Amino acid sequence: MSTTTKRILLAVLSAALVLLAFTAAYRITLRLTTPQTAAPPAAPPAGESGTAAPGQPAATEQTAAPDADQTTRSGEQQTANPAQTGETAPATEAPSAAEPAAPQAEDPVSPTYIGGILVVNKSYPLPRSYDPGGLTDECESAFYEMQAAAEEEGLDLYISSGFRSYELQSSLYQRYCDRDGQAAADTYSARPGHSEHQSGLAIDLNTITSDFAYTAEGKWVNEHCWEYGFILRYPADKVSVTGYMYEPWHIRYLGRETAKAVYDSGLCLEEYLGIDSVYR
Ligand SMILES: [Zn+2]
Repeated sequence: MSTTTKRILLAVLSAALVLLAFTAAYRITLRLTTPQTAAPPAAPPAGESGTAAPGQPAATEQTAAPDADQTTRSGEQQTANPAQTGETAPATEAPSAAEPAAPQAEDPVSPTYIGGILVVNKSYPLPRSYDPGGLTDECESAFYEMQAAAEEEGLDLYISSGFRSYELQSSLYQRYCDRDGQAAADTYSARPGHSEHQSGLAIDLNTITSDFAYTAEGKWVNEHCWEYGFILRYPADKVSVTGYMYEPWHIRYLGRETAKAVYDSGLCLEEYLGIDSVYR
């Protein structure tokens, strides 16, 4: 072997060694750098659980954290969803749809006055919002006047049922429907909005039974209530006109002049005013 070939071989060998050394060094640096880049992802989980408490508490916190997240997330979703539905849909669409709907539901229903007389029957309802808050002062004072006059005759008149709100009538009517069926309930109980009691001008006296007609109080009321501005609203012989069974206990305040005119006519209020009483 010549010295030149030995030198060449040495050069090649040394070059190969240098190459091996570089690749080895490169692999080492790779190992050093990749663990470092891999370490941060591993660190934050340790840090999240470890910031509060290291070691075992981390495990409990990790199990506890999801619960808290779920609750806060579900809580956020609950608050976020109503906000989404409430702000996007109802706030923009529903109110605009509800506002026209509400007037449509109430506006068509307005109190009906015929000849200055407020009419409430199956044909003419009161709006849901109609609420005098009780018997009108005029009706109430007329009753007390009649009550005092009856008392002088040794009779005991008292109010069993006066003003009834739309809501109360609604629950009463529903109860009767559930008990007897709607067809039967319609003969003795008004649908909500159709009860004269909502007007604050109607009173149920004493015992609310047909037997009241045969009591001294019932007979006296039948003969004298007009003198105090009341009429028997649902007479026995007008059931087909009023749409209600005979109610000797139910009186309606009209004021003395009108009550006398209706009484003298022998007509029920519907006939007197020329109207009907029919659910449509
Ligand atoms: Zn009544």
